[in-house]
Amino acid sequence: MGFKVAIIGRPNVGKSTLFNRLVGKKLALVDDTPGVTRDRRVHAAKLYDLHFDVIDTAGFEDAAASTLPGRMRQQTEIAIREADLIFFTVDAKSGLMPDDRTFADVVRKSGKPVVLVANKAEARGAQGGMLEAWELGLGEPIPVSAEHGQGMPDLRDAVVEALGEERALGEDEDDGDEIAASEVLIGEDITDPDAETPYDDTKPLRIAVVGRPNAGKSTLINALIGEERLLTGPEAGITRDSISVDWDWRGRRIKLFDTAGMRRKSKVQEKLEKLSVQDGLRAIRFAEIVIIVLDATIPFEKQDLQIADLIIREGRAPVIAFNKWDLIDNPQELLAELREKTGRLLPQVRGIQAVTVSAETGRGLDKLMESVIKTHKVWNSRVSTGKLNRWLEGILAHHPPPAVAGRRLKIKYVTQAKTRPPGFVVSCSRPDAMPQSYVRYLTNSLREAFDMPGVPIRMALRTSD
Ligand code: GDP
Ligand code: GDP
Repeated sequence: MGFKVAIIGRPNVGKSTLFNRLVGKKLALVDDTPGVTRDRRVHAAKLYDLHFDVIDTAGFEDAAASTLPGRMRQQTEIAIREADLIFFTVDAKSGLMPDDRTFADVVRKSGKPVVLVANKAEARGAQGGMLEAWELGLGEPIPVSAEHGQGMPDLRDAVVEALGEERALGEDEDDGDEIAASEVLIGEDITDPDAETPYDDTKPLRIAVVGRPNAGKSTLINALIGEERLLTGPEAGITRDSISVDWDWRGRRIKLFDTAGMRRKSKVQEKLEKLSVQDGLRAIRFAEIVIIVLDATIPFEKQDLQIADLIIREGRAPVIAFNKWDLIDNPQELLAELREKTGRLLPQVRGIQAVTVSAETGRGLDKLMESVIKTHKVWNSRVSTGKLNRWLEGILAHHPPPAVAGRRLKIKYVTQAKTRPPGFVVSCSRPDAMPQSYVRYLTNSLREAFDMPGVPIRMALRTSD
């Protein structure tokens, strides 16, 4: 067996809930039945590929309830002494309490490896508590929801980081069937498809193709899929709400979503003009990456920009295809002009991938797909809080926020709260007073520092108190 974990924290932060999730409720019950020889105070747990024991600190709760801080502390110290790793747990929903700091001191003094678990992270307003947790000086808080099973992949990674790969993974002993119970528990209730997970290239990448009528969407889709019949199949099979086509591009699974371009034109030709923004919107919501097809001979009409704006506001990542490039006489000049225009008209997605293609000849389509995948990776990217705050140090040293009404605005932390698209929370004094221009500066600097071109980046300001 690998290592022992103690879940430490003040009452009510969710230690038992986390314990149950790691150990599996069924297993815990089984252990309580007579004849089971396992040490009652230690339970086998599993977190994906990690096998370990969790020290049951349930008894310590009573100690806490008896309002004997000295005894509580003593018990905690015993658990810490037995443990190889500590899950120091705080309640992100309620924020830090004085007891959290007291316990944290004990943990810090022990010198044992610690993972700082910010529980109840799914709750509204948990972000503030998560940021506060930094103040404990126990490293980066890992947002989890013990109750809903969220954040478990990050917790796993944090354990590996705290203990080192060799120690954490150890010899992978087979613990038998019982463990399966905890496996089921971990990950149940993860309903948010956008929950934090590392970049996964096994799931189909969802693409929508949008653009004005006649930009060449149908032609492009046909060229990409290479199977004419899929698009011109019997009308009966083409229902308005659920058109999607699966295909593979260089082994990567792709799901192409419902777009006007996939509908048989003869039937809907007249309506297309009116429908296209509405249709586009629906397709955009389904998609991760949206290819905006522009007719290079008449690019950037008002409607194109409307669609682009919609995509960005929905948090999807756009990729531009300048189509009908075969018709262009002055490609170099035009490309330079289009690049300049794109940057000027779409500053919210600076560095956006824009590719010249000819749907008719097939030229540039591989490059288009490469751009789609590149953008998808950026859209999924995650920057560790450590890196973000090192970056922030540099920013504060060289270009700190301005003073407003004689008082300098302060920034305390930055963390990435979400991916798809990347979203960051800046903890600062007086968020309301922070000038938009400075927020833009932060966004652009962050985009550059962490190489995140072409995707929307969300930046939320929170009070740090
Ligand atoms: P402990 O005894 O201090 O370890 O805490 P418990 O595990 O008994 O949990 C205390 C309370 O917090 C209970 O009402 C739980 O249902 C609740 N709780 C635990 N984990 C979560 C969570 O991830 N999210 C939310 N919203 N509540 C939680
Ligand atoms: P949609 O309305 O956006 O689906 O556009 P279509 O795919 O139906 O294309 C509109 C017209 O543009 C058709 O006549 C196509 O043959 C033509 N077209 C599409 N792509 C290209 C291209 O790359 N080059 C040229 N020269 N014509 C194209």
